[in-house]
Amino acid sequence: MVGREYGRIYAWDEVNPAMVRQWCEVMGVDNPLYTDAAYAATTEFGDIVAPPAMLQAWCLEGLHMNNYPPGSTDENPYEVLSLIEAQGYPAVVAVNSELSFERYLEMGEKLYYTTLIKDLSDEKTTGLGTGFFVTQVMTFYSEQAGADDKVGELLFRVFKFKPAQAAKPAPAAASERPAAKRPLPGISDDTRFFWEGCDAGELRIQQCKACNKLQHPPAPVCQHCHSFDLGYRIAKGSGELYSFVVMHYPEVAPFDHPNPIGLIQLDEGVRLPAGLVGVDRNELKIGQRVRVEFQTFDDQLTLPLFRPVSD
Ligand code: ZN
Repeated sequence: MVGREYGRIYAWDEVNPAMVRQWCEVMGVDNPLYTDAAYAATTEFGDIVAPPAMLQAWCLEGLHMNNYPPGSTDENPYEVLSLIEAQGYPAVVAVNSELSFERYLEMGEKLYYTTLIKDLSDEKTTGLGTGFFVTQVMTFYSEQAGADDKVGELLFRVFKFKPAQAAKPAPAAASERPAAKRPLPGISDDTRFFWEGCDAGELRIQQCKACNKLQHPPAPVCQHCHSFDLGYRIAKGSGELYSFVVMHYPEVAPFDHPNPIGLIQLDEGVRLPAGLVGVDRNELKIGQRVRVEFQTFDDQLTLPLFRPVSD
């Protein structure tokens, strides 16, 4: 099948400004060449053009699978994958997607593409399993009065494979499983003072020695004045609930569920996320006063937790 080229699949619509504008909006592209006709008129193009990277979008079928415009081929360019699958290679993973462009597209052009099976590898074994790399090339053309004009290409390579059998240890009986511990924080030279503070029952907040401002979480540099000369200040430990979430699922040991987690606005002006204790989750209120307390888990990790207070 290598070298076989499948028939045309047409675009539903001409290259048009509405699709261009919507694509740019979704992708976060703000180049005025694509959306501002007055600006585009001042460029070498004279009018808006389509972003090259939306090439594939013009010929997509839309919401319903395989719903291609009249005149499109009814061959299945992906039949090679079904044939390989029937030989016992059920899994698939995309490995390359490479777009290349000949030129910008102008409004009003009508596209179609054809699909070539460019290459089929010998059987290969990778970490995923054993199978075949299949390379297809979709070539996009613009319909022209004379010869149609090639405007770009999409090379697409997949690996169609038999998954490797992972050796799975037999599940241990519940009684033999070690009890799950709290995950430990990654401690660096920048954050050590905070965790040592927790061990000492102090809520330490990083403070810049140059501008005196506070910041949390700790960082290597002052976010206000960029000084590297940083120390800390011991917070009073009171504040209010700025926001919160209640984790219900997944239930991950060793945490209790539902698991309420707050974003605490300290009276000193910085915020930190922390577990909440002594709360009825139905009565959590933004703005309620909270106070820190320290709890040690697994004899090795002391965390600041916050409990509602009534002042
Ligand atoms: Zn500073």
